[in-house]
Amino acid sequence: MRKRLMGEAMGRILVAGPWITSKEIKYVTDALKRGWYKNANVYHQRFEKAFADYVGKKYAIALNSCTSAIHLSLLALGVGSGDEVIVPEITWIATAAPISYVGAKPVFADIDSQTWCLSASSFEKMISKKTRAVIPVDLYGNMPDMKAICSIARSAGIAVIEDAAEAMGAQYGQGRAGSFGDTGVFSFHGSKTMTTGEGGMLVTDRKDVYQRCLFLRDHGRKPEGRMFFNTEIAYKYKMSAMQAALGLAQLERIDELLERKRRIFDWYAQELSSLPDIELNYQAPGTRSVYWMVTVIIGKKYRIAKEALIDSLSKKNIDCRPFFYPLSSLPAYKDLGQARISRKKNTVSYAISPFGVNLPSGLNLTRKEIKYVCAALRSILKI
Ligand SMILES: *Cc1c(COP(=O)(O)O)cnc(C)c1O
Repeated sequence: MRKRLMGEAMGRILVAGPWITSKEIKYVTDALKRGWYKNANVYHQRFEKAFADYVGKKYAIALNSCTSAIHLSLLALGVGSGDEVIVPEITWIATAAPISYVGAKPVFADIDSQTWCLSASSFEKMISKKTRAVIPVDLYGNMPDMKAICSIARSAGIAVIEDAAEAMGAQYGQGRAGSFGDTGVFSFHGSKTMTTGEGGMLVTDRKDVYQRCLFLRDHGRKPEGRMFFNTEIAYKYKMSAMQAALGLAQLERIDELLERKRRIFDWYAQELSSLPDIELNYQAPGTRSVYWMVTVIIGKKYRIAKEALIDSLSKKNIDCRPFFYPLSSLPAYKDLGQARISRKKNTVSYAISPFGVNLPSGLNLTRKEIKYVCAALRSILKI
């Protein structure tokens, strides 16, 4: 069953993939049968409550995506036209795109060479009079130096939105990933550790932010207000009851999902960590990574760029992904005119990105498949 679910029939080892059991099927079936009309929000409420408790925050709001969670965070925190928001160069564009939705400008900061997450010192250097928020990203399930980032933000009066889309369940000191900012945001896209197909969550301790996000999520309706009497033009960002049911089932199995992620990393580490000039995800002291994507940085001496390595692995029926390109280098951000300056300033991002590859990290991977991937990698690199 496991084999068939993970795409063995297609003969490829996929880069990501969920772990669905009869529990998920049972909850979703129940939502399908009963989650309508007066019961339409029962699964949302259970999912939100359990999620807030897990992350250790007062409030959680289930949404249709993490991108929406970032959009609502920016709006609720009052970020708008003329403002600047600092984001790391290396992340999925979903971290940064909502900054443009609200008419603000993204400013790209460098990453740390070990954690691959936002560098606190680079962040500090990018702060200007216009900076209103920073969005640190828990990249690939690793954690940034959250203490330094939050203390810099606090003294500069800048709001923090923690993008924990890739780090559900990670720890930094006593806190869970997603608990450090004014808001924390999560993704339940099919590739993520826990999934609702598509979906997201926003968490916060701030009642004002919570209420504003609820209002904006639902076409500017006051929760107890007059029916069809909207007071502002807003958005429609809810998830469905079936998605909430799936999310609740996955959340109830989160320990098992996280343990498997860590085991997959350990299997890779046993095969790869002693190889010369091959760097794997770094777990900083006092943190617990969830290794959402097991990632290798291939030393320059191998003389192979990530695209060529991915092509060679693909010929061996292995799906991989490139380490994110620096956002400032993307055609999407051409009009900002930052590429040249950013390339000079954000040297770590530009130095690492060409040599990074995400290896298959789906929850249904077997040890045998991981050995196959590692043997393929060694044979391509001739080690
Ligand atoms: C997946 C991801 C997102 C976006 O999530 P969606 O649910 O697809 O909107 C945002 N940030 C990071 C870092 C991600 O990996």
